[in-house]
Amino acid sequence: MRKGRAASPGLASGPVVALEATAIRAEATTVRPADPAAELARLAQALEDASVQLSVLIERVDEDAAEMLEFQLAMIEDEELSAPAVAAITGGTAAPVAFEAALDAAIAGYLASDDDYFRARSADLVDIRNRVLRLLSAPGAAEGSQDPKGAILAGVDITPSRFLETDWSEGGGIALAEGSPSSHVAMLARARGVPMVTGLGALDAAKRVTAIVDGETGTVWFDPDAAMQAQHEALRTRRAREAGAARAYLDKPARTACGEPVSVMVNIAEPDEVDGIDPAHCDGVGLMRTEFLFHGPGGLPDEETQYRAYRKVLEWAAGRSVTIRTLDAGGDKPVPGLTIAEANPFLGCRGIRLSLLRPGIFRIQLRALARAAVHGNLQVMLPMVSQPDEIERAGGLFDACIEELRAEGIEAVRRPPLGIMVEVPCVAITPERFLAADFFSIGSNDLTQYVMAAGRDSAEVADIGRADDPAVLALVEATVRAGEAAKRPVSLCGDAGSDLAVLPKLLARGLRRVSIAPAALARVKASIAAMRLDADG
Ligand code: PEP
Ligand code: MG
Repeated sequence: MRKGRAASPGLASGPVVALEATAIRAEATTVRPADPAAELARLAQALEDASVQLSVLIERVDEDAAEMLEFQLAMIEDEELSAPAVAAITGGTAAPVAFEAALDAAIAGYLASDDDYFRARSADLVDIRNRVLRLLSAPGAAEGSQDPKGAILAGVDITPSRFLETDWSEGGGIALAEGSPSSHVAMLARARGVPMVTGLGALDAAKRVTAIVDGETGTVWFDPDAAMQAQHEALRTRRAREAGAARAYLDKPARTACGEPVSVMVNIAEPDEVDGIDPAHCDGVGLMRTEFLFHGPGGLPDEETQYRAYRKVLEWAAGRSVTIRTLDAGGDKPVPGLTIAEANPFLGCRGIRLSLLRPGIFRIQLRALARAAVHGNLQVMLPMVSQPDEIERAGGLFDACIEELRAEGIEAVRRPPLGIMVEVPCVAITPERFLAADFFSIGSNDLTQYVMAAGRDSAEVADIGRADDPAVLALVEATVRAGEAAKRPVSLCGDAGSDLAVLPKLLARGLRRVSIAPAALARVKASIAAMRLDADG
């Protein structure tokens, strides 16, 4: 079993097609051509075929996808793009080698841009490069034409056109080592109902034969045995039945069968994720992870980039509460150039520990948050807190940033409530020592791994690292009670909140606020409506 990030809900099972095996690079065709004129004609034909393929695709897809493909079409038809390739071919280089080099240079230029828009467009250039190289090596060939029906496309990442040229009419899914739930492909996958999981880590896709993709829990099973297949079929039937019934609960505030209200918020990472969520379906954002901002090709993000990302989510929420967590790098989330290489990174310098160690980088994030706070109902949350003075030190830096912004003439700043993740056991054991925090949010993923000594990334100990172990539940209850006594709101934003087998046990211990994967909203709200809290699940 492999755990990644849920990018598009649904269940799929089928034969694996390794994406990298179908990618074409020019190395194999480096023979010096005898006739540059023939090479130029070959490139012209490939560009022409690529335009025709894209035009046909544009007719078949929705408005969003068409807009992206039109950009690619315009690029292909722009002579400037292929001019360096034409010059190299005239000088005696083979067409594929010349075109690959020209596009690689253009891609590097886009990736180095300060502008998010251009960086995002580099994926389109990769797409163009691959399409034209494929057409140069096999004239007329379309991507995906050799895929078996219902295939699971597995690999490092997938381009939008590879997605669009795949025939999904008989099922299929996507399992990626990298990728992101807010990529264009993930949006397309959600729109088409194609199950997709990203961030699985190295896959060795070429050695896999079959796979099951569960886009709701972000889980993939490679080469499942017959028992696993049967389990998958039963799950698929149940999910289809439940999904139909659950949709009726989306528009309503969540209430248990006894009428007890439960606040249901969503977890997001990249700001574009909110585009696919109706804010009326939830009570705001209970956790916005900000690590994604630090993984861009441009390196560490500047204040303006962060401010724009936070502001977008606050405006989308239209007054609903939005909890943005400061950088939680380290552990299973290394950031090149920022995190420290350690023998045991989960017990090392991650989360708030790293931010306090690198105040220069932390201050940029706090300044962006203070500026964004005026655009909505923001709360800021610190990850991996284990010492009471970490809250005071972070709060002191926050205040200093606000003063600094005002001194610079930026009046529109505000210090939002500052809360903490409860994910290190010492906080849950003695929460009364952490009342400098304005609110608590239980991180059941880390809390469970630290309480049970079972790594969250290890499939072998998954049965030990259970969020409904009595020890974990006791700490959840202690945190809830401490929050009630000290009037600090308590929520839970780990995956346990979306787990229908665990959720009743959490609510039975007094929890009334959860933050869950957006794809799970309907079924979680429906399941709350059926719960009687006197029964401890
Ligand atoms: C958690 O630990 O439960 C949590 C929500 O944080 P993350 O999964 O980002 O570590
Ligand atoms: Mg955590």
